[in-house]
Amino acid sequence: MISHRSIRTNKTNVCILLSGGIDSTACVHFYSERNNKVSALYIDYGQLSAYHELKSAKQVSKYYGIKLKILKLKGTLVAKKDYICGRNSFLLMASLMEMPESNIMALGIHAGTNYSDCSSAFVERVQSVFDLYTKGLIQVCAPFLNWTKRDICQYCIQKKIPINLTYSCEYGKEQPCGKCLSCKDLEALNAGKM
Ligand SMILES: [Zn+2]
Repeated sequence: MISHRSIRTNKTNVCILLSGGIDSTACVHFYSERNNKVSALYIDYGQLSAYHELKSAKQVSKYYGIKLKILKLKGTLVAKKDYICGRNSFLLMASLMEMPESNIMALGIHAGTNYSDCSSAFVERVQSVFDLYTKGLIQVCAPFLNWTKRDICQYCIQKKIPINLTYSCEYGKEQPCGKCLSCKDLEALNAGKM
């Protein structure tokens, strides 16, 4: 006998904010293995690493067989800064405009940083804005909110997530700089120190 569950086709639409880095790639894996309808949104807002990030986002999307939407913003100029004030809320609001059919909007933020837009308070507040717009139809999700970078890296190893396809250097060089926080994380991961 065929159960109703197995013939049901209305899967949850999950949109991942994909930067092509380890965290958002792990996020794609997280939702893909849970039988959701996953798609990704890449936003080029003028960051230095946009070229290499997009290349990785394409490779990761191809690997997982998910649709990638690319949003390229013109006239943007983001200075060489590690921290861009307002970034994650901006990316989420842009995703709301681009992917309003989603049930879940997910991002790979995690614990262990001092960034105010990587906190539960941030997720709660953005959710309230989303609720205002969508009457509660879209949930903002950050599955790694309480995980450290180390937890994410261990998850990647355990799940055989293709970190070789990811790109993380904040300075966007062909050869990662080896000095920024993202490069150091990746170095430690490759050296088995995570
Ligand atoms: Zn770097």
